Amino acid sequence: MIDPQPRGSHFVDGEYVEDSTGAEIPVIYPATGEQIATVYAATDAVVEQALAAAKRAQPEWAAMTGTERGRILRRAADIMRERNHDLSVLETRDTGKPLQETLVADATSGADALEYFGGIAGSLTGDYIPLGEDFVYTRREPLGVCVGLGAWNYPTQIACWKGAPALACGNAMVFKPSETTPLSALQVAEILHEAGLPKGLYNVVQGRARVGSLLVNDKRVAKVSLTGSVPTGRKVYAMAAVGMKHVTMELGGKSPLVIFDDADLENAVSGAINGNFYSSGQVCSNGTRVFVQKGIKEAFLARMTERLAGVKMGDPLDENTNFGPLVSQSQLEIVEGYVAKGLEEGARLVHGGNRVDREGYYIEPTVFADVTDDMTIAREEIFGPVLSVLDFETEDEVLARANDTEFGLSAGVFTRDLTRAHRMAAGFEAGTCYINTYNDAPVEAPFGGSKQSGVGRENSSAAIEHFSEKKSVYVRMGDVEAPF
Ligand code: NAD
Repeated sequence: MIDPQPRGSHFVDGEYVEDSTGAEIPVIYPATGEQIATVYAATDAVVEQALAAAKRAQPEWAAMTGTERGRILRRAADIMRERNHDLSVLETRDTGKPLQETLVADATSGADALEYFGGIAGSLTGDYIPLGEDFVYTRREPLGVCVGLGAWNYPTQIACWKGAPALACGNAMVFKPSETTPLSALQVAEILHEAGLPKGLYNVVQGRARVGSLLVNDKRVAKVSLTGSVPTGRKVYAMAAVGMKHVTMELGGKSPLVIFDDADLENAVSGAINGNFYSSGQVCSNGTRVFVQKGIKEAFLARMTERLAGVKMGDPLDENTNFGPLVSQSQLEIVEGYVAKGLEEGARLVHGGNRVDREGYYIEPTVFADVTDDMTIAREEIFGPVLSVLDFETEDEVLARANDTEFGLSAGVFTRDLTRAHRMAAGFEAGTCYINTYNDAPVEAPFGGSKQSGVGRENSSAAIEHFSEKKSVYVRMGDVEAPF
């Protein structure tokens, strides 16, 4: 069992650091509202310590071979898997997500990233470009000190999805978790160091927007990778632009999930459940605009309602619980506000919609039908368990409506028509598309958003491009010609 109260709020230069003069950040167990730990926002001194350590440690790390760096990451992956149960319990206490989920989706996906990027670290090479006798070769070089800013829905995963490729490429990282879920990133730092990571290369500092902006604005920082909302993304991107820093922006969405008449009904309902109610709907890529073709609509709603009887809401630490609370009181209030808005604007409530009469931040999984494109619940990211069903008739119509959004994170289609499925995937304006499934995010595939949903990609070899740059070296084999 990991004590939720960490030995220090921050992990800097290979050890826990405490400075209780920073603003207090209570850590709340969302299932009860109980305070389980306290951390303190990093003071300017702690931020300085972390950035200085990263800057100092990075060149030596970059000088090691990729295989040596990768070995450490792979060792960390093994430790993380061995501790999966304890890490999952901690994640559940930090986020409120059911243990049934955290056991398979959090430390495990973090370990996948460490293993994957550890595995390719030794193969990160440049190119050889022949130019007759002359040639150019490219060196793939790290960017230097990278900053990671995390959201609260997948704290371990985000800490690893940013840390693993950054370290594989020879960078150092200063990671700031969300102030709502500050605990797991400290475990990631501990495990990396136990696996042999030299001091100063993966630092964790706590704090809110102020600490985030201190990090982003620092001259020593070469790259910022944010997972968060679109409004935060705009601010962070703008700050990074001043210093011409590299960015990866993993932002919000309002993704379409299109279900055609010919779809396998059971699978389509499963996809909609996974794409709306997993993690109580607090998933960026969720397919919250569920476009259902008229011929299958009533069957879809009936089957969805039946399947919702299988929801087991309760203590997230009980492995039978499959639906937990929202992460915080404020998130609960946001979601309740959207439910009220849906009713006010004329959507038909088919299921749920109520706050649950128990301690903690629980709201029922909610399904609205007869939702129209202009309704607030169809336009804005809710980040809670609210599924909206919108009717449609034709393929052309639904594709145009699916794309009529400022977001472009994900999109899905359920159909048995092979060519239509691929036409839809080609037509969707989204970074990740799904055919007859929804919300899978394997480390082997690029993940990220189009339009306002972000810039850059995480995971796969695509992430390497965003944590390194290529230097061209021109080599002339003969004499140099000059005009005079
Ligand atoms: P948020 O935008 O409020 O915060 C994200 C992080 O940015 C936090 O660490 C926060 O402290 C920091 N931050 C906030 N303002 C800042 C500023 N001005 N300068 C520097 N740092 C700042 O997001 P959240 O509420 O924690 O998470 C929910 C959002 O994240 C949703 O919109 C969701 O869609 C998105 N999200 C996206 C992905 C993805 O991969 N695309 C994954 C998970 C969550």
